[in-house]
Order: sequence, then structure tokens, then C-alpha cells
Amino acid sequence: MSLSFKNRIALHYMIATAIIMAVAFTAVYFVVKGVVYQNIDSDLSFEAEKHTEEIKVVGDSIKIKNKKEWEEREHREVQVNPVFIQILDKNGIFMDKSPNLKENELDYNEEANFGGSYNETLNNKPIRQIQLPIEENGKIKGFIVAAMPLEASQMVLLNLKNILLLVYLLLLASLYFISKYIAGRSIIPVKNVTETTNRITRNNLNERVALPQNKDELFDLSSGINDLLQRIENAMERERQFTSDASHELRTPLATLKGTLEVLVRKPRERGEYEEKIKFSLTEIDRMTATLEQLLLLARLDTSSKAKDESSVPLATVIDEILSRHKKPISEKKLSINFKNEIENETLVPQYFSNLILENIISNAVKYAKDATNIHISITQSNSNIICKVRDQGIGIKKEDLHNVFNNFFRSDALNHKNIAGNGLGLSIAKKAADAIDAKIEVASDFGQGTTFTITF
Ligand code: ADP
Repeated sequence: MSLSFKNRIALHYMIATAIIMAVAFTAVYFVVKGVVYQNIDSDLSFEAEKHTEEIKVVGDSIKIKNKKEWEEREHREVQVNPVFIQILDKNGIFMDKSPNLKENELDYNEEANFGGSYNETLNNKPIRQIQLPIEENGKIKGFIVAAMPLEASQMVLLNLKNILLLVYLLLLASLYFISKYIAGRSIIPVKNVTETTNRITRNNLNERVALPQNKDELFDLSSGINDLLQRIENAMERERQFTSDASHELRTPLATLKGTLEVLVRKPRERGEYEEKIKFSLTEIDRMTATLEQLLLLARLDTSSKAKDESSVPLATVIDEILSRHKKPISEKKLSINFKNEIENETLVPQYFSNLILENIISNAVKYAKDATNIHISITQSNSNIICKVRDQGIGIKKEDLHNVFNNFFRSDALNHKNIAGNGLGLSIAKKAADAIDAKIEVASDFGQGTTFTITF
């Protein structure tokens, strides 16, 4: 059975209260019962002791002294709560009784020989009875039994029980409705949240859940949902921007390609001219392919969760491999590479992601370095971290652009170095790869002097 949240709260609340009330009501009932019996018992023992004085013991027989007086008293007074008295010898054999007992007799109870009270019946009616020993010179001569009808008291207790039960049920029923109402009211903000979130689609992501007035758990829930919506909206906006930038990035070389080919077929040309234009077109296609590959890589880095079960290698190996892949541009630009590995105990790094990071950073250093300059690469260890620095003496990055270099498609001051090819995706990839292995990339630069990238693994 699935209960609504509202009914569940009401039910739990009711069960808890029902238990507490049941305990409280039972306690009330038993306390009252205890007090009632205590009063009867103390009355009975008072009567029994009083009548012990009016007994005469002759040899083995025990008799009530002024029986005549008793009988008269009985005729005179209306006895609302009569006390029955009976005398027994030490073996429990009947000796004498008060006249109000008529032809009835009270029972002897062996277990109560030394005092004690208990319930009995007389003529099928409940009575409370007490039995005290009659002693003479420290010897038990017999017993005096006093009894009182119990019917009235039992009636009172029964009434009390019924009233408590009735009140209990009534209270539970009203409690059910009250707690249902209160629970219903207290989850109104939850309903608001549900309604708003149901209304929100891709097209109205800017809508927000109304915040409740009290700063309680529901306020936290609502503002948590609002924060989530904000993050989703930002992500969607980034995605829109990325799609439009990516299509722009691909449309431009396609248009150039189309233009070149259209001009080429307009009239017959020399073989040399064909070759030149086709070569140009091929490089343009290569560039597009490279950009497409980078876009795919970025999308993959976005969706793949944190790197796991990845092969690990020493960082120096990764760097050596990258440098040997870039041998050609390095020698063309007459760059000298100064690579210092100061790590004593070889520590391993995840191969795939470290390669992505350093490939992009080192190829940038080579690309943006001025001819015949130095590129310094160093690996050091600080506590448990490996720190890799790549410093070039290149064109540098303007201060105001430093915080943008990791954004997709961002190229700093691109118009002033048109000859350096690029699409602004390399550092985005490096950043995403670093995020995937919890590494940190920092950049510092002196515009016109050179740039230093610091990667902390
Ligand atoms: P790109 O393909 O343009 O190199 P990146 O994402 O790799 O794209 O770099 C983004 C921008 O950061 C570059 O366009 C360039 O302006 C700047 N940049 C990156 N690395 C360097 C560097 N070593 N020296 C100077 N500028 C750099």
C-alpha cells in the first residue's frame, strides 16, 4: 500500500501519540484502581481492628460481645456500605458472625492467616475481604474476617475504563484529521516545487522555484533546486555557444575551400596552378579534420567520467615522446630544449590524460616560441605532488586574456600572428584532461617575453 507523504506523516504522528496516550491512560486507570482498593482495605482493617475489641474469648470459643446492640443498630440505621464481620477459630471453623450476614457465611482463607486482603464473592456478588489473627498472650486463638461489598467500586472502575477508552478513540480520530490537515499545510511548498519543476522545459529554463518564507529544510530544497536549474541553464548556454562556435569554425574553411574550387573550375588552367590550389585545399581539409577530431575529443572528455584503470607511466617518458614527435618544428625554429627531471623516486602519472595535457602545452610552446630561443621543461616533486613547468621565450599572452585561454575557441591576439595556425581548442582539451585526473594547470605570462605553464599532478 503506498500512502501519500502527507498521510504517512499523519499516520506516524498518530501512531506515536496513540502509544503515548495508551500508556498515559493505562497509568491513570491503574493509579485510580490502586487508590480505590487502598481506601477499601484501610477501611476494612480499621473495622476489623475495632471489632477485635468487642470479642470475648472463653476457652476455645470466641464470641462477639454485644450482639444485641449490633442488631438494634442495624434496625435503626440504613447501611449504605455495610461491613460484615465473622469470627473463626484457629482452624478456620465458624464461631460467630455479625447479624447483617443473615444466613450467609464468609469464607476462610488459609493463605491470609497473617493478614492480607483479597477479592471474594458473597451470594455471587463481589466483596473485598480482610482476615486478621486474634491473639491472646502471643498465641493465635482464631481469626476475625471483615468484608465489604465491592460492587460500587468495581462499577466506578468499569465506568472509568469505558470513559477512558471512549476518550482515547475520540482523541485518536480527531488527531488523525488534525495531523492530516497540518501535514497537508506543511507540504504546500513541496507541491509548489513540483508544479514549477514540471512546468520547466528546455525553453523556459530561466524559471525558478518560489522560495518559502521560513529558512527551513524546504527553503534549502527549493534553493538547491534553483541552483541546479542555474547550473543546467549555464551548461545549456555553454553548449549552445559551443555548437555555434564549432559550426562557425568549420564553415569558414569550407567556404574557403568551396571558393577556391569554384574559381579553379571557371576556366582551364595551367597544371602548376591546379597543383597549387589542390595542395592548398588539402591542407585546409587536414586542418578541418584536425579541428573535428579535437571537437570529438572535447565531447568525449565532457561525457567520460573520471579516469579509471588507466595505464600509468613516468612523466619524463611522456615528455620525451612528445618532444620526439615535435622534432621537426623544433629544429626548423632552431629551438633548444632544456629538460630537467629532478624527481628522485620515479612517480607514475596516467598516460592518456598526461599526454593530452602536455602535448597541447608543449606544442603551444613550440608554436608560439620566437625562433632560436630556449624552452625550459622541468619536473620537480613537492610533497606528494609532481610539478611540471613548461617555460618558453615566445610572444606571450596579454594579461587581460590570461583567464580566457582555457575557453573553447579562444585565441589571444590572433590577428597579430596570423601565420601561427590554431583553433583555440588545445588548451580547452588540456584543461578537461587535467580535470579528469584532478590535476591543476596554471599559466603566467609576460606579454612579448614568454609564457610559463605549471601543471600540478
Ligand atoms: P591555439 O590552437 O590557438 O593554440 P590553444 O587553446 O592551444 O589554441 O591556446 C589558446 C590561446 O592561448 C592561443 O590562441 C594563444 O593566444 C594563447 N597561448 C597558448 N599557449 C601559448 C604560449 N605558449 N605562448 C603564447 N600564447 C599562448
